[in-house]
Amino acid sequence: MPGLRLLEDEPLSNHTRFGIGGLARLLIETSDPQAFDQALQILRASNALHEIIGGGTNLIVSDKGFDGVILKYSADAISAAGTTVTVAAGAILQHLVDFTVNRGLRGFETLAGIPGWVGAAIYGNAGAYGHSISERVHKVTFTDGRETGLFTNAECEFHYRESIFKRNKEWIILSAEMAMLPGSREELIQTAAGIVKERNAKFPPAMKCAGSIFKNFMLADLSIEVPAKVVREGKVPAAYFLEQVGAKGFRIGGIEVASYHANLIYNTGSGTAAELCQLIDELKHRVRQQFAIDLQEEVQYVGDF
Ligand SMILES: Cc1cc2nc3c(=O)[nH]c(=O)nc-3n(C[C@H](O)[C@H](O)[C@H](O)COP(=O)(O)OP(=O)(O)OC[C@H]3O[C@@H](n4cnc5c(N)ncnc54)[C@H](O)[C@@H]3O)c2cc1C
Repeated sequence: MPGLRLLEDEPLSNHTRFGIGGLARLLIETSDPQAFDQALQILRASNALHEIIGGGTNLIVSDKGFDGVILKYSADAISAAGTTVTVAAGAILQHLVDFTVNRGLRGFETLAGIPGWVGAAIYGNAGAYGHSISERVHKVTFTDGRETGLFTNAECEFHYRESIFKRNKEWIILSAEMAMLPGSREELIQTAAGIVKERNAKFPPAMKCAGSIFKNFMLADLSIEVPAKVVREGKVPAAYFLEQVGAKGFRIGGIEVASYHANLIYNTGSGTAAELCQLIDELKHRVRQQFAIDLQEEVQYVGDF
């Protein structure tokens, strides 16, 4: 099929920021909407096991790999008409941030420095510094491999790091229309640059990690009391609990928790998915034992564990 890149027995460690993951039986990448649609139709009709990924910055892929087809839809067009911005799912989120701030369009400047692609950012309602992508999403176009659908913002059912797409993995986001606000180009550029600088100190660009492993807690959902000073934007950081169970610097094999951030786990170089899962399980166990609350992963799993 023209326009498709097919890779057999492709190491998924080449497609994840953790640098971890066994072989995918097949990896298909395309930026061509028609080729993607055709490939997806064939996969769905033949009931072949398949999963979509983006930049791989929020993934733990099994050491056993994925005994099916991994899809990457890399269409990355971004365009603007007034304050409306249309973006394809494979656009790098930082490119969308740069595109909007350079046009004096407000709304994505605090997402500066979040790695990954736009499709996954919508899927997981990515956000930082008190804002998330959902605030500016107007409509999302997606496919189930048979038909294309269009959701309004309300229909996407966005919540903190959640959307309807997370609960319906068979729906693949193709593009989105964003409703931006007018802003001052200079101020937006300055805000975004300041955030990138801060983030690069916390998450060095070469660090093999997924950002925060666990979701923070919505204060309203927590069944236990916490000091008011730890609450940030209505949330209690998972790191608050992790620190108290000795997470910082904790290590299993080649996987380590950062010494300065209890919710940041990284691969020191030789780590495996098995070690990563063991470490995650141990931290969840410790927090459950001490606080009777359940940490929930923000990171997504691919393959059998
Ligand atoms: C250093 C670092 C810092 C980070 N900081 C933040 C942060 O501040 N805030 C934040 O929210 N996140 C953060 N993250 C997590 C990550 O960057 C985001 O979750 C990002 O949106 C993932 O994008 P991706 O393209 O890499 O997705 P992937 O990791 O490839 O995939 C993530 C999920 O999205 C699904 N998916 C991918 N594409 C599509 C599509 N087109 N349609 C439907 N589903 C799809 C996949 O199936 C998978 O379940 C950080 C990660 C790192 C490494």
